[in-house]
Amino acid sequence: MKKLVCAGEILVEIMAERIGQSFRAPGPLVGPFPSGAPAIFIDQAARLGQPAGLIAAVGDDDFGHLNIERLRADGADISAITVHQGAATGTAFITYETDGSRHFVYNIKQSAAGLIEMGAEARALLAGADHFHVMGTSLFSPEVIEVARNGIEAVKRRGGTVSFDPNIRKEMLDLPGMRDALHFVLSKTDVFLPSGPELFTFAEATDEEGAAREMLDRGISTVVVKKGAQGAVHYDRSGRIASPGFVVDEIDPTGAGDCFAAAFVSFWLRGEGPKRALEIANGCGALAVTKKGPMEGIASLAEVEAFIATSRTGAP
Ligand code: ATP
Repeated sequence: MKKLVCAGEILVEIMAERIGQSFRAPGPLVGPFPSGAPAIFIDQAARLGQPAGLIAAVGDDDFGHLNIERLRADGADISAITVHQGAATGTAFITYETDGSRHFVYNIKQSAAGLIEMGAEARALLAGADHFHVMGTSLFSPEVIEVARNGIEAVKRRGGTVSFDPNIRKEMLDLPGMRDALHFVLSKTDVFLPSGPELFTFAEATDEEGAAREMLDRGISTVVVKKGAQGAVHYDRSGRIASPGFVVDEIDPTGAGDCFAAAFVSFWLRGEGPKRALEIANGCGALAVTKKGPMEGIASLAEVEAFIATSRTGAP
């Protein structure tokens, strides 16, 4: 089976217990939960039985070991996660506002996540990789951008493939080196996985299908637009397929996009058709939102298949 690799931040997430609870006053918290988009992605792929490894850095503290133990238990390759004494693992504190939006207090750039590097462990992991997944939010420093470039070049040299989940906010585009890095990543991307509006950051067309076609014309083979509870839409040269989401009670949406992407890419790498890949990905995305904590709803293949067999979908 093909091995996929991702690089970027590991952190823990700590949530305000109540919706609308402000961090400007003391209050009850839940967590720590293992987190970090690349860690969620790799953990979900591993739970589906895909060989998957992560290049990352954590502090030699409980938060770092919580993540490493979860990834290890779920079958991920943790050989390229370096542990740094005297550095703290990153944290994200999250409140959910009454209008459904999220408010974050982050410590990632200054955390151990910033110590990521192309060391011997990372090179060894990439030497056995067939696919590299890039996340826009992980390109937060020149060091991570360098690791991503190395990862892309390593898999492409071996005839491998690249997927890209932009997950990018407009203000990030002005960070030094970011536009060049995104241009480079897009020029190497085989599978592009934006959430609805993100597609338009990279295209001139103002309608979804036109924007997706522009991406295909650039040489990307597959575009999958994630649409939250509505599911996802898949575009390739043979056309458009809409796949409805599954009906669930949403408890915590963080991480759904990463679980969806991991499942879709894993099934794409197995050579499964788009309908099956989308169904499994929508199932994993739906299960992800049913638990508090971004990695707590991650399902195995047997669990997601059982969920799909007994669930109903919403409107496409
Ligand atoms: P995030 O950045 O929060 O991880 P995202 O914006 O990248 O997410 P979404 O479109 O929100 O991605 O969600 C990804 C997938 O997860 C959807 O395509 C769908 O399959 C599933 N999903 C998300 N929210 C729900 C929901 N409320 N009910 C059912 N499925 C959902």
